[in-house]
Amino acid sequence: MSRGQRESFPSVIVKCDSTRPPQSAHALCVVYCPHRDILAYAGVQPEEFWGRLAKSRLQWQKEFTVVSESEVATGSFRWFPDGDLNVAVNCVDRHAALTPEKSALIWEKDEPGQEQHVTYRELLDMVCRLANVLLSEGVRKGDRVALYMPVCPMAVAAMLACARIGAIHSVVFAGFSKEALAARIRDASASVVITTDEGVRGGKVIPLKQTVDAAVKECRAVRRVLVAARTGAQVPMGPLDVSLEEAMASASSECPPATVGAEDFLFMLYTSGSTGKPKGIAHSSAGYLLYASVTHKHVFDYRPGDVFGCVADIGWITGHTYVVYGPLANGATTVLFESTPTYPDPGRYWETVERLRITQFYGAPTAIRLLIKHGDIWVHKYDRSSLRTLGSVGEPINHEAWHWYHTVVGNGNCTVVDTWWQTETGGIMLSPRPSAPDAPIAPAMPMRPMFGIRPILCDEKGRPVQGNDVSGALCIQSLWPGMARTVFGDHKRFMETYFNPYPGYYFSGDGGHRDADGFYHITGRMDDVINVTGHRLGTAEVEDAMTEHPSVAETAVVGFPHDVKGEGVYAFVTLKDNIEEEQAVVLDELKKITRTKIAAYAVPDVILVCPGLPKTRSGKIMRRLLRQIAANRADALGDVTTLADPSVVSLIVEKHRQQNQAK
Ligand code: AMP
Repeated sequence: MSRGQRESFPSVIVKCDSTRPPQSAHALCVVYCPHRDILAYAGVQPEEFWGRLAKSRLQWQKEFTVVSESEVATGSFRWFPDGDLNVAVNCVDRHAALTPEKSALIWEKDEPGQEQHVTYRELLDMVCRLANVLLSEGVRKGDRVALYMPVCPMAVAAMLACARIGAIHSVVFAGFSKEALAARIRDASASVVITTDEGVRGGKVIPLKQTVDAAVKECRAVRRVLVAARTGAQVPMGPLDVSLEEAMASASSECPPATVGAEDFLFMLYTSGSTGKPKGIAHSSAGYLLYASVTHKHVFDYRPGDVFGCVADIGWITGHTYVVYGPLANGATTVLFESTPTYPDPGRYWETVERLRITQFYGAPTAIRLLIKHGDIWVHKYDRSSLRTLGSVGEPINHEAWHWYHTVVGNGNCTVVDTWWQTETGGIMLSPRPSAPDAPIAPAMPMRPMFGIRPILCDEKGRPVQGNDVSGALCIQSLWPGMARTVFGDHKRFMETYFNPYPGYYFSGDGGHRDADGFYHITGRMDDVINVTGHRLGTAEVEDAMTEHPSVAETAVVGFPHDVKGEGVYAFVTLKDNIEEEQAVVLDELKKITRTKIAAYAVPDVILVCPGLPKTRSGKIMRRLLRQIAANRADALGDVTTLADPSVVSLIVEKHRQQNQAK
């Protein structure tokens, strides 16, 4: 059990009766109330609950009078729709006014021991100057700005500068390839791209500007590339390019915040789906920020003075919500971690914890599994007594990793929170905390819903499964302010993916299990999406990339259990007849294609050349069989008689066995 834990909810000032939620706003008057009452209050009176939080936690330009106006049937979700607020003001100005010299950011650069603090005053200066640069480039409210940057203060300032002028940022993970970047810039019709000369990660230099140069050649709408200096390397500057530091030096440090509607988009972020084309998930300004702020505080037990260390990259939703928006909305000090878990050695995380006195550490199971392999000695070397909460995100955490995190890293003294959520949910949905004080935490499961979240499990017919010790499709019955509003430019896809499969509910795409005690456990994706090192990857994306190779006839990609990555990428491939190249050359090229078309993490761990793929008589590939083969479970293939050619299965199984033996 954690130290010093106390469930409090000072922001919602609620008078609670321990048996029923408060019935009216008049009853809201005391500071502390039991967790179950808050849960009940959020469930029974969600509008009042979220409305009160929105008023107490956020600073409004114009206060809202309506809390929520939503219609599930059309996927129209509007929170605080008649209110105006500027996200940058909420994340920077109001803290710069109160605590100007407090560190907003601690940039933990790739090389250890070179951390750089940015105070709220300094951050405000950066944000305003950068916002003025964007304005001078003609960026207006609602325009999209693409960011392709390493984790650094300039990236945070760029996100907030967009927010300040009401532009929509689209951060593209700086590990994505030129083609993936170009596709995302085009889909968003971004007119300005912000990047750095180079990136540095794990001691390696990454040519970011070079990738942007190649990408923007394929993006006609881009009229300016702003280039910040990360390494100071001399990179070629073309007619589109402007040095961001130079432009900022001559820009004014004052920039009045734009009036932004609560429902105006703050950002879009691409995520993989079951088709080859990633979806630009669009998030609102006020609802998203509120949900980020509330979950940051209550899941992690954030308290003033804490140093919040989320080691995610800003290119993913975790970086958006728990490196940038949640902590800054709460006036926290947040760590920007530029490096890797093993650079320069496997003690990096814990050395950083000791040096920066980090109080909450939030990372991914894949990194934990990797560090376990290097031994406890790398943890024991460093003082981790500052830590109170250890968070896990991105994929299921296995028992071994959970126990190591809890016992070795946390010395048994920290609260471990396995947090389940998604790009689409904006913030944490299931997590052991918040809860009643000292409520038990079961290992390796996210357990409990966040305030105002009602998870349900549905059967194949779309009916909620009742009772405990049951499994089903994990859906959310309630609406919450942080939920995504649409897929940018494709609301139909938004509905088809999230709201049509289980009418009336948000469908997460994950399967879940509710145990005998009513606690939730995630069983994995139900669609053709796999989770590699905590990153979502559509198997169709990999297939589309590989079938572009002239020698490839067909491919089917599935995930398989991988002891470090969580899931690995397994590609079954059939080649065309009479190909001229050697097979080994083709396989090498296929790996290169996935790297250049998507990203390094998409490169298949295994490519198996097969005589054919198992298909039904209607021509559909039976991925279920391929998943079993890839997981070495060929003895449990079940019925294959519905296949057009069942004999192909034993040939694939044999090839898989031979390839395994050869390793
Ligand atoms: P993303 O939107 O990229 O953050 O990916 C979200 C997906 O990651 C979810 O749909 C889950 O499949 C998986 N995921 C995230 N957190 C967890 C968790 N704590 N346990 C199990 N799966 C998770």
